[in-house]
Amino acid sequence: MHDDLLAIHDLLKVENEMMDLRAEAAKLAARVQKARARIQQTQQQQAIEEARLAEIREEERTLNRRIREYGAKRERTQGHIDAGRGDYNSALEQLKELDQIVDRLESELLETIEEKERQEVCIERTKELLVVAKGRAVTASEAQRTRRPEVEARFKSLAPTRKARTDALAGHLGQRYADLRARKRPVLVRAVNGSCEFCNMAIPAHYLAEVAGGKRVHTCRGCGCWFRDAVETEDESSDEEDAD
Ligand SMILES: [Zn+2]
Repeated sequence: MHDDLLAIHDLLKVENEMMDLRAEAAKLAARVQKARARIQQTQQQQAIEEARLAEIREEERTLNRRIREYGAKRERTQGHIDAGRGDYNSALEQLKELDQIVDRLESELLETIEEKERQEVCIERTKELLVVAKGRAVTASEAQRTRRPEVEARFKSLAPTRKARTDALAGHLGQRYADLRARKRPVLVRAVNGSCEFCNMAIPAHYLAEVAGGKRVHTCRGCGCWFRDAVETEDESSDEEDAD
């Protein structure tokens, strides 16, 4: 392999690893953040559901009180009728009205009790969700606590290598490299069926022969990336084995 290609490849490799480490650290933090947000959201939901349950219970108490009041009135009216006191017809009318009111209140009470039961089930489910969310937060925090120092240590340990490899790629090569990185280009590209794999620009045949022979390095006229040679592909797979 040409020395220039080797230098480019080595720098790219260390930078890619550092990028992966940074992405991993960000992912670890994002998982913790997400789990905490979920806990907060679930707690807010629970608070809303508890408040609604309190309202329903208040409605239940009010209905019970009114049922007792109207029940007592009905008893008094029934007492008047039984004792033959007052106007019989109007008392009978009143009794019928009170019956209707008590019936209506009792059916409202039944609905309220059913709603209360549904709400209690709702709260139980939310509590279960909260337990799950808290479990996830613990897992995410533990993952962050154990893995993050490793990620940071590895990142720091790579910094001198990166510096040395950047320095090794001085001059116009370094300039082109920095420019390609800034434009988020792959830097090194393969030739696929005589064309650049990244931008599809056709490649002169002698370019590839020279690159493969390690005689010269060539860049794509379309995207500006360097062509890899055949040997380098093998190098890379052995590099990855080394990394494991
Ligand atoms: Zn290209």
